[in-house]
Formats: sequence, C-alpha cells, structure tokens
Amino acid sequence: MLTFLITISGVVQGVGFRPFIYNLAVRYKFDGVVFNNSYGVQIELNTDEKTIQKFIDDIKKQKPPLSQIDNLSVKKIEKKSFDSFKIIKTKQSHQQKTKILPDISICKECEMELKDPTNKRYKYPFITCTSCGPRWSIIKSLPYDRNNTSFDKFKMCQECQDEYNNPKDRRYHAQPIGCFSCGPVLNLRDKNKNIKTTQKDMITQTAKLIKDGFIVAIKGVGGYHLVCDATSDKAVGLLRERKKRPHKPLAVMIKDINQAKKLSNINQKEQDMLLNKARPIVVLQKKQNKILSKYIADHIDKIGLFLPYSPLHILLLDILNSPIVATSANISGEPLCLNSKDIDKIDFIWDYCLEYNREIINSSDDSVVTFVDDQPIFYRVARGFAPISIKLPYKLDENILTVGANQKSTISLAFDDMAVISPHIGDISTIKSIEHFKKNIKNLTNIYNFTPDTISCDKHPNYESTKYAIDIQKRKNININKVGHHYAHIRAVMIEKNITKKVLGVSWDGTGYGDDGKLWGGEFMVCDMVSSKRVCSLKAFKLIGGEKAIKEPARIVLAMLFDIYGKEAMTVEHEAVRYFTPTQLNTFYLMWQKDINTPVSSSIGRLFDMVASICGLIHSVTYEGQSGAMTEKYFDKNITSSYSFDIKDGYIDTIDMVKQMLKQKDKTLTISKFYRTLVNMIYEVYQKEPLPVVLGGGVFQNALLVKLIKEKIKDTTISSILPPNDGSICLGQIGKHNNIVV
Ligand code: ZN
Ligand code: FE
Repeated sequence: MLTFLITISGVVQGVGFRPFIYNLAVRYKFDGVVFNNSYGVQIELNTDEKTIQKFIDDIKKQKPPLSQIDNLSVKKIEKKSFDSFKIIKTKQSHQQKTKILPDISICKECEMELKDPTNKRYKYPFITCTSCGPRWSIIKSLPYDRNNTSFDKFKMCQECQDEYNNPKDRRYHAQPIGCFSCGPVLNLRDKNKNIKTTQKDMITQTAKLIKDGFIVAIKGVGGYHLVCDATSDKAVGLLRERKKRPHKPLAVMIKDINQAKKLSNINQKEQDMLLNKARPIVVLQKKQNKILSKYIADHIDKIGLFLPYSPLHILLLDILNSPIVATSANISGEPLCLNSKDIDKIDFIWDYCLEYNREIINSSDDSVVTFVDDQPIFYRVARGFAPISIKLPYKLDENILTVGANQKSTISLAFDDMAVISPHIGDISTIKSIEHFKKNIKNLTNIYNFTPDTISCDKHPNYESTKYAIDIQKRKNININKVGHHYAHIRAVMIEKNITKKVLGVSWDGTGYGDDGKLWGGEFMVCDMVSSKRVCSLKAFKLIGGEKAIKEPARIVLAMLFDIYGKEAMTVEHEAVRYFTPTQLNTFYLMWQKDINTPVSSSIGRLFDMVASICGLIHSVTYEGQSGAMTEKYFDKNITSSYSFDIKDGYIDTIDMVKQMLKQKDKTLTISKFYRTLVNMIYEVYQKEPLPVVLGGGVFQNALLVKLIKEKIKDTTISSILPPNDGSICLGQIGKHNNIVV
C-alpha cells in the first residue's frame, strides 16, 4: 500500500467534483480524503500503482458535466493512514488559482423536477443543483462555499440541509440550494405597493400583465430586464419611447427552438448555440413575417433571439407561450440595474416589477453572438461564458491587472500562464459607470485575493481606465504598462488562438488612440508577441465637429466633398449636403478649412458611416454599429466588381472610391462594391506582407465582411472566444517582453 496525492486544477469547484470523487473512491473501496484548496481539488488515498492509474482514467472519463480538468498530477507522498474515505474541509492558502464558473442555465434534471407536480420544487423559480444555476452572480470570495455567497443569509430547511450534506445526492454542496420554505422568494409590485398574491401565482400574474401590454421589470440572474409582449406594436413602441432607444435592435426571448424556427432561418450550429448552457442571445437571419412587432429591428434583416435560461423564465414563457422583448434594464450608458434601488430610479420605464430577495453580487449582462459560416463571433461575452479563463501562450513572472479600453470595458487578472477575464462591464464615461468599473475590479481581485505587480492599460490619456491605472500605479507604487489600442486588438486574437509567430494584423475599428495621438482605426501592422510595426493605414479624413461627426455621418461625406471640390461642395446635389442648412454648411466649411474641432481619423468604422450616408441609408446614427448593420442587408453576392483605390507610401487613399460612389444611384451596387473593395484592400497589403492574417477590432463584428475576407484569404484568423471589439482589449494588454518567461 502506498499513499498518493492527486492535484487537479481547472473548473473543479462548485460543479460537484468532490462528491464525484467521493463516490468513485467508495466504489474503489479506497481509504483517504478529498478537499478543495486554492488550486482546485486535492485527493490523498492509499492504494497501489496499478489501481491508481485506473482510478485516474475513470476521473477523466466520468467527470461531472460542468467540470473541466486543465491539469492533473499524481505523486507519492509519505505514508498516511485513513479509516475510510471522507470529504474534508477546504484547505486555504493565499492567492486563489482555481477557476470560478459563470452563471449556468438550468439543467435537464432540474427542468424535469420543475415541471413535475409530485416534486417538492415543482414550479420553484430558483431550483438548482451542482450542475446548474447561479455562480458568478452570487460569489463574494473563494473558496466557493455557501458562506462566501449571497445565499449565506438563507438558512436551509432540514430537507434541503439533508440533500446538501449527502454526497450521494445531486445537490450535495450545491451552494444555491433552496426550496419554497427556505430559499429566495418572489415579489411582484407596481411603483407604489406590492401586489397581493401567492408565490405560486406570481408568475401567472406577471404573464397576464405582459399580455395586457404593460412593461414589466424582471430580475434575472445577473441583472434586471425590461420585458414586454414582443408581438405588440403598442407595447414595444412604448418601451422604445420610454427607454429613449429609437432604433437599436431589441433582444427577444422565445419559448423553444420551434419558435426560433418560425422567426428566423436557423441552422444546426445556431440551434446548438441557442441551447448552449450559457443561453446567449444569438443574432440570426430574420424571416419575413408579421409575428413580431415591427419596432423590434425593422431596419435590419437580423434578429437576436435567446431561450429562457433560469427556472423563472421557463415558468413565465410556458404560461405566455409567445415571444417577449427582454432588454437590459439600464439608462443608456449607465450600468445594469442590480437591485430594487437601481430599478426604482428608472420607474418611468416600467409599470410593474417582478423581483426576488437574493442579492446580485456580480452583474452580468446577456451574452450576444452571431455566426460566420460555422464560426461564432461574439458581440458581448457575459452571462454564461464569463468570467472566462484563457491559457496564455507564455508564462508570466508577475501578477498583472489589465483594465482594457473605455467602451465595452472588460478587465483581466493574469498570473502564471492564465488570464481570468471579467464579463462585459460596459462603457465607462458617467460617474455611475466609473464606480461600476471600479467595483468590478475590486470584486474580481477580492475573489482571487489578487495583488498586481503591474497594471496594464491603453495609451489613450482620456480613457477612464487609463486614468484609473495611473492613479493605482502612483498610490501602490507598482509598474504600469501602456499598450497601443490597435496592437492590443491583434494581440488579443494571437493570445486567444495561441499564435506566437509573426502575423499581418488588420486592426479596424471605430476609434482608438494611435501612436501619433491621432484617431486610428484602419491599420495594418506586422506584429509578434512583443512588438508591432504599422505597415499601412487608411488615409485619414476629417471629422467635422469630432464626436458629432460620429453621430452625424453626413458630416464625413461633407468633409470628403470639401476635400474634392473645396467650397463648391456646398452646391453639390446630394442628400448629405441638403441635410444641413446653408448656415451650417458655411460654418462646417470654415471648420474644415481652418481645422477647428476637426480631428482626422483613419477609421474603417467611420468609412462605413460615410458610405451609409452617401447611399442615403442614414445621416445620423443612434447606436454604435448601426451603419454596418444596415449596409449588410443591401449586399448582393453576385456583384463581384469593386472600386479602385491607391496605395502610396503606406496609405490607402479612398478619394477615388468616394468620387465614383457619389455618381452612383443604386445602393445595392455601391454597397456590394464597397464590401469587395475593403476585402481587396486587405488582399493588396497581404500581397506585400504575405503573413498569416489576424483580424481585430469592432469592424469585424460585421459577419458578412469577415466571411468575404475568409473566402479571399484562407489563412485568416479572428477571435471566437472573446469579441473582436474593445471587449477583448484587456487580453491584448497582458504581458510585455520583459515579464514573459519563455
Ligand atoms: Zn440542475
Ligand atoms: Fe477598438
């Protein structure tokens, strides 16, 4: 008999790993112990060399569904004696290295119990087990034990306690365990008072209110949604009006895959993604029919659908049996509402509120994803997927905190060869959103007991994240590492895809701070893991009024016209010119001429805006990415011609393209040729720098563009775990040449 120590790391806590080991060890008739520690799970047991091998094979083959083994090591240790096999208390040490799970949608077994009238948790809206339910949204610190979660204030009833204590039960140590008599309870109210009804009737009442056209705020797993009947123009129109969100598409929650098939042209991959245990919003090709309100996403041919992810949503959709709008409850630019106080601040939007008394410690918005052929492209990585751990292609010799960009903020903690990335935090510009950003850093570093040696940020001096990093650097006297925005975009993909050799990075986005202090966004750079060199770029054009030109793309067209015709541009017969008054035109001309509040930009995002405006699709945008989304619908794959452009001294000049576009009246032709031209730009640079192509930046949320590039250049890589937009910048900021251990 020998004593062995097995150490397992990965996703092994909060997923039923210890009871699994216990039951397996009991079958093997082993004596020993299993426990959690800061690395994951450790097992000590007595047996011989041959049997331990079989045991390890069984661990790998039969491990619990939500678990993931990154590392498993076995070593012989000094002889110990045990009288049976036991699960023992967690052994703590300093920094936590285990992975925490995101919030997971309800599992099959729990869903069956939820619908079984003989079960004690029949219709209990918070039913959960070790294979499903909230994790990230309830955790305060590691190790993942009930007293470190927001369930600490719920005292288990005897029945739940017995399940919790029994290693043979599927709710053994399920931290969010509860039932009608001991777990969280619902509350339905209007703006002034609670609605009197029983727990079991509350969801039926809510369904009725939604059917009657009311807007109901509903507390989901990681934040509140604003919900209304997706088939009613009146209800959806009202929601848009009250939320002051005129155009941005609204996500729709549907009961099942059959409803998805009625509303969209959906393939197998997309169905699998809808059913993924994260239950993300999947952006699909819309079917033309009159089921949904025309106000959901009328100007584009896509629709974002998702399935119920919590027992509460399942119960609600079962009663309603028709689609609902479920959009994040917040004021534009502000963080998601997490508690009654937050939701009451926007009570001008909702009529009723359905909530419950379990605190949301860490927020997470819905994840959003689309497909390019078989490959997912994420718009937002949050509920169900994040926090996400990514293995680095190198080892670090220090702890690094990276704080990302300023829009679609995410942050990461990096240590050893691992990065833990937070869910989408959102844009950080308002006081509340800056607080929210800081709270996220505090929570994540607390959970991991993490102290950074270096803080990494963007080079943009006005980013709130940069200001935060500088402040921390000074106060804590740690190192700071500023990484160029567009290099970080490419580096993020390289790290995710484990690419360490030289690549041609194509970094296209809306705006980012360039190394020369100008606004970049149409960059080609030859990069490896430690350096980058800009080899080509879109020739910059003027943004009359700076930020205002981002909202009003007609200003970009006008600037181009000034570039071509000078003052005469004011007399050009074009919609974008007529969009402005003569006084405005005169002012803009002066601004253009004298460079007053008229920064230049090399952004492809802005080029999309300009093209959408030239085609008369839109002269003022109300949400980011609108022009890109609107152009997709006009692309005709049978048009293969393109515009000519000049590449000179490392700049791509588009003035010729614009001249040709202005003469063209046919939107479909202009837009199709524009897409082909963008692909040709990359192809031309690729001919000069024949390296593997890596795409990064928000422009590549455009699935059509990515598809066309991949058709033309086979050796093209784009991220598929993190989004191509600024949500991945924090990953690209990890490590520099002097703290990477090769
Ligand atoms: Zn379950
Ligand atoms: Fe960016």
